[in-house]
Amino acid sequence: MVKGREMIKTFEGLKDLIVENYSEECPQCNGAGECEVDYDMPHGFGRDVGFIDTRIEECDMCNGSGEVSNHE
Ligand SMILES: [Zn+2]
Repeated sequence: MVKGREMIKTFEGLKDLIVENYSEECPQCNGAGECEVDYDMPHGFGRDVGFIDTRIEECDMCNGSGEVSNHE
């Protein structure tokens, strides 16, 4: 039955689409794979004002892939 096979094929295609949608852009780095990490620099070491140092690091939520999987 060709019709049935076609239906299965379509279903597989749909499944692929759904699976693809489960891989979402990482909310932490917005798909960049890296994100700015704020380091709170404390007072001291000759500074009288604390400041926040910002560095670009590999995103720990997606391990640098830029995508997070919602698969169980
Ligand atoms: Zn990320």
